[in-house]
Amino acid sequence: MADVLQKMHPSVHGKDHDEERQGEAYAPFEGDPNVFSKKFYIESYGCQMNFSDSEIVASILHGEGFGATRNFEEANLVLLNTCSIREKAEQTVRNRLQAFRKIKESRPGMLVGVLGCMAERLKAKFLEEEKLVDIVVGPDAYRSLPGLIAEAETGQKSVNVLLSREETYADISPVRLDSNGVTAFVSIMRGCNNMCSFCVVPFTRGRERSRDAASIVNECRDLFERGFREVTLLGQNVDSYHYSHGDSEPVTFALLLEQVALISPLLRIRFSTSHPKDITDDVLHTMAKYDNICKYIHLPVQSGNTRILQLMNRTYTREWYLAKVKRIREIIPDCGLSTDVISGFCTETEEEHRDTMDIMEQCRFDMSYMFSYSERPGTLAARRYEDDIPEDVKKRRLIEIINLQNSHSRDSYLADVGKTFDVLIEGDSKRSEHDWVGRNSQNKVVVFPKNGKELKKGEYAHVVIRSATSATLMGEML
Ligand code: SAM
Ligand code: SF4
Repeated sequence: MADVLQKMHPSVHGKDHDEERQGEAYAPFEGDPNVFSKKFYIESYGCQMNFSDSEIVASILHGEGFGATRNFEEANLVLLNTCSIREKAEQTVRNRLQAFRKIKESRPGMLVGVLGCMAERLKAKFLEEEKLVDIVVGPDAYRSLPGLIAEAETGQKSVNVLLSREETYADISPVRLDSNGVTAFVSIMRGCNNMCSFCVVPFTRGRERSRDAASIVNECRDLFERGFREVTLLGQNVDSYHYSHGDSEPVTFALLLEQVALISPLLRIRFSTSHPKDITDDVLHTMAKYDNICKYIHLPVQSGNTRILQLMNRTYTREWYLAKVKRIREIIPDCGLSTDVISGFCTETEEEHRDTMDIMEQCRFDMSYMFSYSERPGTLAARRYEDDIPEDVKKRRLIEIINLQNSHSRDSYLADVGKTFDVLIEGDSKRSEHDWVGRNSQNKVVVFPKNGKELKKGEYAHVVIRSATSATLMGEML
């Protein structure tokens, strides 16, 4: 339902779980001089972390002589990188598998693999439930893919869903298979130690671990040298990033941000996701200090009611959240802010739902990801609480939340008319090759005519905003 609603309301899309990218398949690596005898096809679902992981998988497969294809009908290996966050996400994957069944019947040598959170959650059960699946690999086991493929090629089904306390794939250079050549994701940590009661991530992605800071900075520098101009540092809870090695000074998230910002003033830095309990003044001051750290924070609130937040095990109160937002606005007055909201969590009353609407009113988010609660097997909430809010009530509350967010987004975008922004050009606009599309520091999409000026994607344009919808700013280059 949430996903359908998101499609109906274009202003409700965004970065964390981009509806437009769901099920995206990677194109072959442009200009790849290698000739590959075997081809893999990979489709990714869910959060940015999965899209980033698919690039690591692509790198491992490249090393094994597999080239990418965007046509699964010609692939020797078909992979789905899956998401378990809501039931609907899992259903999408199951439906997608049906599409591969026919092809597999006509091409018996073709292997089908399931990666990611659903693989981890269902483990070998997946092989029983979906007979066409040959390989099941959890998020920490991608290094074992070559062995698993070899095993599957002999006709055996193969599974590796071991979670690790150390694996960060720090030494694997991701293959940017479907890149605009301007923006890239860089994974800085894996797993999550927060036990939000609704969330399956700690079970499917394991314990939190931070990646070697030097390898992150090197990857970002390498991207910059190859022409990329924006990196998004990814983790489930980036503010708890902490890397220490031997006697050297531990690297906190604020320090890491600074190290990446110092690579070049022309390299923009974004990050996702922040947890309200962990984001520090240090991080906010570092953001304020460097122009190239984007003034945008995704700060999931989930609910505006303290009792529900407690049941969710979010470990902050409504007042704490509001104080964080106030602090952000004090230190970074022009900061863009977005959030995640869940409607109809267990036992939520109408009044508690109104608290969520009220906190949205107070915070006036530029954008939100909005979901109705979906019980996930094995989570704390599934074990402790009854999923007792009827579906129609969850949906009605969600619609109210979406309508409110739409009006806030409209106000927020309209308030930018007349302002000027530096926009990093990401490419041609979808509607017209005569227009550029890019984003401002606050993460808002900006479209503007090329007007014959000699600019290229990856360059910055100074744009004055002339009009706005609730999801796009339209402007002119100065
Ligand atoms: N680590 C991030 C955080 O703490 O917010 C994001 C995790 S999750 C991939 C993205 C969002 O999905 C969550 O913020 C939450 O709003 C939503 N979500 C997670 N589990 C859910 C569930 N069982 N039902 C509905 N929405 C859920
Ligand atoms: Fe899930 Fe909470 Fe961890 Fe986010 S912080 S991944 S919502 S457990």
